[in-house]
Amino acid sequence: MQVGSTLTLAGWVDTRRDHGGLVFVDLRDHTGVTQLVINPERSPSAAALVHEIRNEFVLQAKGEVVARSPETVNPRMPTGEVELQVDELEILSRSTPLPFQLDEENVDELLRLRYRWLDLRRERMQRNLRLSGVVVSAIRRRMEELGFIDLWTPNLTRATPEGARDFIVPVRLQPGTFFALPQSPQIFKQLFMISGFDRYYQIATCFRDEDLRADRQFEFRQLDVEMAFAEREDVLGVLEEAVRAAFVALEREPPEAPFPRQTWAEVMARFGSDKPDLRFGLEIQDATELTRGSEFGVFANAPSVRYLVAPKAFSRAELARLEELAKEWGAKGLAYVVFDESGEVRSPIAKFLSEAELEALRAEPGSTVLFGAGEPGAVARVLGLLRLHLGKELGLVDESRDEFLWVIDFPLFELDEETGGWTFSHHPFTGVVAGHEELIESDPGAALSQAYDLVWNGWELGSGSIRIHRQDVQQRVFQALGLTADDAQEKFGFLLDALQMGAPPHGGFAMGLERFVALLAGEPNIREIVAFPKIASGADPLSGAPAAVPEAQLEELGIRVLEQPS
Ligand code: ASP
Repeated sequence: MQVGSTLTLAGWVDTRRDHGGLVFVDLRDHTGVTQLVINPERSPSAAALVHEIRNEFVLQAKGEVVARSPETVNPRMPTGEVELQVDELEILSRSTPLPFQLDEENVDELLRLRYRWLDLRRERMQRNLRLSGVVVSAIRRRMEELGFIDLWTPNLTRATPEGARDFIVPVRLQPGTFFALPQSPQIFKQLFMISGFDRYYQIATCFRDEDLRADRQFEFRQLDVEMAFAEREDVLGVLEEAVRAAFVALEREPPEAPFPRQTWAEVMARFGSDKPDLRFGLEIQDATELTRGSEFGVFANAPSVRYLVAPKAFSRAELARLEELAKEWGAKGLAYVVFDESGEVRSPIAKFLSEAELEALRAEPGSTVLFGAGEPGAVARVLGLLRLHLGKELGLVDESRDEFLWVIDFPLFELDEETGGWTFSHHPFTGVVAGHEELIESDPGAALSQAYDLVWNGWELGSGSIRIHRQDVQQRVFQALGLTADDAQEKFGFLLDALQMGAPPHGGFAMGLERFVALLAGEPNIREIVAFPKIASGADPLSGAPAAVPEAQLEELGIRVLEQPS
């Protein structure tokens, strides 16, 4: 703002201060705040109007930019060295009293969402949504530089199997039939590969009917990618480029590529999680062999005995609390051996452990060995959660680090706890690791897939895989998942047909954009980077959706609503 120039400014009233004769108004837009000075001697008309002005009125002011006197310079404002001496003032729009002030802290979230247009005026939300825009545009640019083209896929379609419930849409023209909203464009993007569009991307909206959490909404966007004639490393390389482009656009040091890769088996063993936070160590160690012949029966008989060495000699009360947590996570108990500061051993199980066992487990004075014993999966889960808990509680996480990781070689199937049958661990179109095809029938649990996940500081950013491109293999996987040939034909016949008409090898990935942006913005909750989110009950406090529809509309759709239990 040039001192001496005449300027017209428009924006919202941030604050108004009345100093007897002079009135100061801080006028705000998304670029910042400028101080207006309304002096009755300079502009009687403006002064007459200014008393009506309240916070969040929209004003237009014309005047002269003047330098502030040195004692009134505000170093906290980018425009703090100047102010506008107002000649003409106009109220463009008024505001009713506000449900909350824009600078108020800890406003109830329901209130913020109900009056989201006000909430979005706040600096934090302006910053978050603008950051989101910068990230999406940087990603688009990079994808297009890499030769990907943005292709649209339908939102009214058939159910797509990504493991969630579908949102369904009734169809007036064929009452009794329903579209499903896509859980992802998975099958369509595979069809693009078969159609010869060998590099597809889309910022795709996906719909999944799942319980809402801090990092989950019914609808969300993905950077959705598919490539033909591509191997895993090609896909990972493209995603690394997209991630790095976002960092560069935000003027942050991009993570170094290639990101490290670890197999699923390795991360489960070392960190007890398929999305490990690598900003701290505290790795899980194995004592199964060591304790095979132990006098401590719990260890001797458990299929898996593993442990963590925490760098602290916990008190009895602290250990009781940790045990409680372990039980909440499904453990039967939490055996421990404390090596206190003087090297003394404190442990209810020490008397059952042999010298050799104790020696092998001995840790630095001032530490505690914490054990999990049982089925390998359950032990990994409990120790993985314990590792995360201790990482935070003992301040082991180095917040200044950014740790990206590719987890590769996931199992092809996992056991469905409800049905006891096999279900897919990624989705049913995921390719099988070469040489593991026979396992689809003979030992489904041992078959590895060509799926991979991207993890950032313990958060899963997205998943992808090299796909099955042979119809016979796809049929076998459907069969292993319990689908009869007829079922498979009825649900996925179009894909099975396409796979028989010249399907090139292909693979892809999808990265959840809201989660990525939330992490970039340092926001723990994705609702802080979604303009109009839903709350945990699934409702939108702003519009009042979801809502009942008129009887006539239901009639047209051939729908009768059952009475709801109140
Ligand atoms: N469709 C998958 C998902 O939404 C991603 C992929 O495999 O490309 O997670």
